[in-house]
Amino acid sequence: MEPAVRRLVVVSNRLPAALRQEGGEWRIKAGGGGLVTALAPVLRNRGGMWIGWAGLSDQTAEVDDLLAKFSAEAGYELSTVPLTQDEVDGYYFGFSNEVIWPLFHDLQTRCRFDARYWRMYLDVNFKFAEVVARQTTQDDYVWIQDYHLMHQAFFLKSMGVKRKTGFFLHIPFPPPDIFMKLPWRWKLIQALTEFDLVGFQTIQDRRNFTGSLQRLMPEAKVRGRGSVVTVDMGNRTFRVGAFPISIDYNQFAQIAERPEVAREAFNIKEALRHRKIILGVDRLDYTKGIPERIRSIQTLLRRYPDLMGRFNFIQIAVPSREEVDEYKDLRVEIEQLVGRVNGEFSFPGWVPVHYHYRNFPPDQLVAYYSAADTALVTPLRDGMNLVAKEYCACNVTEDEVLVLSEFAGAAAQLQRDAYLVNPYDMEGVAKALHRVLHWDKEERRRHMTRLRDQVRKNNIYWWVDSFLQAGISKRLDDFPAGETMTYERG
Ligand code: UDP
Repeated sequence: MEPAVRRLVVVSNRLPAALRQEGGEWRIKAGGGGLVTALAPVLRNRGGMWIGWAGLSDQTAEVDDLLAKFSAEAGYELSTVPLTQDEVDGYYFGFSNEVIWPLFHDLQTRCRFDARYWRMYLDVNFKFAEVVARQTTQDDYVWIQDYHLMHQAFFLKSMGVKRKTGFFLHIPFPPPDIFMKLPWRWKLIQALTEFDLVGFQTIQDRRNFTGSLQRLMPEAKVRGRGSVVTVDMGNRTFRVGAFPISIDYNQFAQIAERPEVAREAFNIKEALRHRKIILGVDRLDYTKGIPERIRSIQTLLRRYPDLMGRFNFIQIAVPSREEVDEYKDLRVEIEQLVGRVNGEFSFPGWVPVHYHYRNFPPDQLVAYYSAADTALVTPLRDGMNLVAKEYCACNVTEDEVLVLSEFAGAAAQLQRDAYLVNPYDMEGVAKALHRVLHWDKEERRRHMTRLRDQVRKNNIYWWVDSFLQAGISKRLDDFPAGETMTYERG
């Protein structure tokens, strides 16, 4: 019998609220994103808590007031972990973003294995763990999110603090040959074994993890089958599972059905004279394969000149980590490539590539999703890729095509009906696009209907439910009713 769980406590690098300064005054806005949408009702109904950094290096009384107000309105507690600029530089920009992010996306040549980053990562993880220890009790379930906080269970235990802990990794876990390049590989993997449950996006990520674990700690034995298995460490066990994250399907589908959004989608098509639209939507990040994608469009036009003037490729790139040189360089590279392709092919009345470098409000993004005939989702590596799922949810006419990288976590679930491509193979991507642009309505519908069914059933509520079931043998609807009632069981 599992002991009763009093509250759910979520711990993530950032709090689910975004703070920004406008004309000298601070403003606060609820963080968007499926995770906040799915967890907020559970936290509210159970009187839960969210622990994280507020995103500022010097938190003032004004910011504290705003957070307190936000917390009162949201109906759950917020607890901040204050960080200094040095800590943010070493733990967040340094170890998280310059070591773990590239390494776990198989891009080890981009890693900066700096020992100062590692030490700061440990210091900040310790600081987080102190807050978790202070703010929680043994009756709480502590659910830690993502690669910034992989040492939480380790530090809680080393302080002698007993907690039920679950960890979910939103990014991929790399194959053993890549993981082994990490100078601090043993300590990091050992720290992960201290959680009660470790969740990954796909079975492949889970296998990569157990493979690395068995190389570094040969005493680890994996037992069981299915999506959650047990790892026996000799003196203790913990569990490891695959829980593919998802989106609030109904929310996206409902936005797409709103008349003003449908009108906006029509306006986009009309402005492009009802040519076929191929769409890319990504944070501007080197894992997303944006330059390779633009080169694939170039290849498409070179190989199939009959397509000239018959489609537009729209790339939405959302600004990200703009202060980092590597991201600045990537932006320049993309802008030059767009210029080169447009220079090579455009003619009066037609420019093949439309490039937008900004953040779109949800309604407008959904209008783009609805207007596009094909989404071209080609990350070099991605934990899941929610854009692929959002695109399917917004396809209310079920008449569109998803071209998806085989290296996105989403491919594990969507491979049957998405057109899978290797993003490094630009000839292959061009061929795939040529093919799907010629698919008939029946073929497009057959695939998109099944894709939508898959995303509808395995939505974000299903994800939370699966994790909680594995972690504490509770279903989402064991929590008191409220907004969780919109949950549609898969
Ligand atoms: N997105 C956004 N603003 C935009 C375009 C996209 O906030 O202008 C969102 C999009 O809706 C999606 C997220 O950014 O939820 C991207 O998630 P994904 O898993 O695809 O990639 P990540 O950025 O997390 O690596």
